Amino acid sequence: MTEQVIEGVWWIPGRDRFLPDSHVYVIGKPESGDFSLVDSGLMEMGSYKLEELTKAGFRLNQIKRIIMTHTHIDHIGCLKELLPAIPDAEVWVHGEEALFIERGDDKIVMGNKIFESMIRSQYELENGLFTVKVHRKLEGGETLTLGGMKFRVIHIPGHTSGSIGLFNDEHRLLISGDTIYADGAIGRFDLFSADPAQLKNSLNTIADLGIDILLPGHNRIVKGGADPMIRNTVRQWLPLLGG
Ligand SMILES: [Zn+2]
Ligand SMILES: [Zn+2]
Repeated sequence: MTEQVIEGVWWIPGRDRFLPDSHVYVIGKPESGDFSLVDSGLMEMGSYKLEELTKAGFRLNQIKRIIMTHTHIDHIGCLKELLPAIPDAEVWVHGEEALFIERGDDKIVMGNKIFESMIRSQYELENGLFTVKVHRKLEGGETLTLGGMKFRVIHIPGHTSGSIGLFNDEHRLLISGDTIYADGAIGRFDLFSADPAQLKNSLNTIADLGIDILLPGHNRIVKGGADPMIRNTVRQWLPLLGG
């Protein structure tokens, strides 16, 4: 079921199987007729997301772009299931990871060799599934106007090299991908392109944002008052990240 978080931001919860399926967020003022998706989800999890979008009243031809917080398989796995149904959607990814998926290099998508062999044993992955044309390479620091709402792109490497957060100053709302979750958890920092030292900096950046609403890639969302929890999470993890 699709849930409105605030006016202009909706949450379609992921449906985890033996692998996690990322949440999808929808951004855009209802009257704008211009909507963005953030992330897509795991393989085979595209059709229910399309159903959810339609049930919630979105017209698929009003979805103009899909912005990836990063390109792990649980976020990008069903991108190619969504794109044929959303013909006008561009794909926006941070430049660091765009370079990989544009040339079909799935090292970041897979994370590591153990995941890769597990995934390949469970799914028939057609060739080129993770070769994706990127229409806009994000850098971090730019402000995007998405369906009448402003979001700052924050480059928060560490979980992956091109992880981004999308921050709305007005509502102090952060879409955090897998860099930080609710309830004291952070994303893994051992997979390909991860970097604990960078993650440390990124967590400090996040703690300084003064976040009220936290919308992570998995598990529970926090609809208000997230700041103390986030500061606590960062304080607890910093010593474990070395440096
Ligand atoms: Zn991830
Ligand atoms: Zn994830």
